[in-house]
Amino acid sequence: MSGKAYECSIDVVVIGAGAAGVGVAVALKHAGVENFIVLERSSVGASFAAWPEETRFITPSFASNSIGMLDLNSIAIGVSPAFSLEVEHPTGKEYASHLRGVAQFFELPVREQVDVLRVTKVGDVFRVDTGEETLRAKHVIWAAGEFQYPRLRGFSGSEFCRHTASVASYQDLPGEEFIIIGGYESGVDAAYHLAYCDKRVQLFDAGCPWKDESSDPSIALSTYSLERMREDWFEKQVELFAHTPVASVLQVDGGFKVKAIDGRVFGTKVPPLLAGGFDGSHKLVADLFEQREDGFPVLSEHDESTVASGLFLCGPAVRHENHVFCFIYKYRQRFAVVAKAIATSLGLPAAELETYRRWGMYLDDLSCCGEECATC
Ligand SMILES: Cc1cc2nc3c(=O)[nH]c(=O)nc-3n(C[C@H](O)[C@H](O)[C@H](O)COP(=O)(O)OP(=O)(O)OC[C@H]3O[C@@H](n4cnc5c(N)ncnc54)[C@H](O)[C@@H]3O)c2cc1C
Repeated sequence: MSGKAYECSIDVVVIGAGAAGVGVAVALKHAGVENFIVLERSSVGASFAAWPEETRFITPSFASNSIGMLDLNSIAIGVSPAFSLEVEHPTGKEYASHLRGVAQFFELPVREQVDVLRVTKVGDVFRVDTGEETLRAKHVIWAAGEFQYPRLRGFSGSEFCRHTASVASYQDLPGEEFIIIGGYESGVDAAYHLAYCDKRVQLFDAGCPWKDESSDPSIALSTYSLERMREDWFEKQVELFAHTPVASVLQVDGGFKVKAIDGRVFGTKVPPLLAGGFDGSHKLVADLFEQREDGFPVLSEHDESTVASGLFLCGPAVRHENHVFCFIYKYRQRFAVVAKAIATSLGLPAAELETYRRWGMYLDDLSCCGEECATC
């Protein structure tokens, strides 16, 4: 099969079967699109399955669908992780199993173990190169997420650190004293689980996310994290360093030295944990998008590339002006927008998508969103 080119054109190739890929695939089905596939390098929900064992969703799940309010962590109408998993804050593994259930229920055409290496546009058609074959598609939806593309740079010596995305379980991490660089959700989560295991933690952040005045969880810490920070063992075990950017990490005899920009030096025997976020997979297709000043792709009102028409972005990297769609309950509102644009280009009416509005799953008017937006 190697190098084989398929002349038959697929209407849509979705890349990635995480929350975004599965969710937008359901919307494509509802839009009446039939000739599409979802390519997944591993298995459905693989990123969630790779979360540290102790990490749980910060956004709560509640089976509120019966009164017309979709569970915050649902990616499709009629679906509720609270109902199917019977937990309020699912672990990554639990949520991955939920996603597999959704993909099966909607009979999504997912091809697992297919790694997409490259996407190029040749004329009006996209070439999607995988390790095994080349597919040709009229439309591509990039939904390859962020988790598998962690940010490993940022200061001198960051290569000596270990990103939290590579931690299988906090309770199994060797060491008694930890330094964590980055104090937003992942950093606080790591500190919480280490403190719970009686480890001492020094947590550094360039700002002060635990005191931010914003009500938007894309900017400030979630209620779930703030609540956990008030646990006795957290306050006892974790030392917080706000407004303390790290300048460098040095490997020294018997451990590591972490130097802050203000000149203070802190020592640790084990590699510092890096919780500084993700580069994101959109960097892989950066040549097919214009870039915003902050590095995120410039998107049309349909979340389509402004330079390679037919290429769409779904998931947490979606940005429109100052609106950040980094949580499921935010970016799921754009699945129908993308599905509608593709259906229209294929000449399909996609009338069923109108139901999405009633469920807060069809946000095509961003003017409602101010800086402290309640809906997006
Ligand atoms: C620790 C942590 C906690 C979080 N908690 C929450 C929360 O409580 N609530 C919330 O709403 N959000 C939360 N988020 C954000 C949430 O994880 C993301 O919103 C979600 O993972 C994004 O889904 P996605 O489908 O875009 O990406 P992913 O879940 O990463 O899915 C992308 C898929 O694409 C596949 N893939 C990647 N590259 C390729 C390729 N080249 N070819 C083929 N397949 C590929 C991957 O295997 C993966 O299955 C959290 C994130 C982290 C890291």
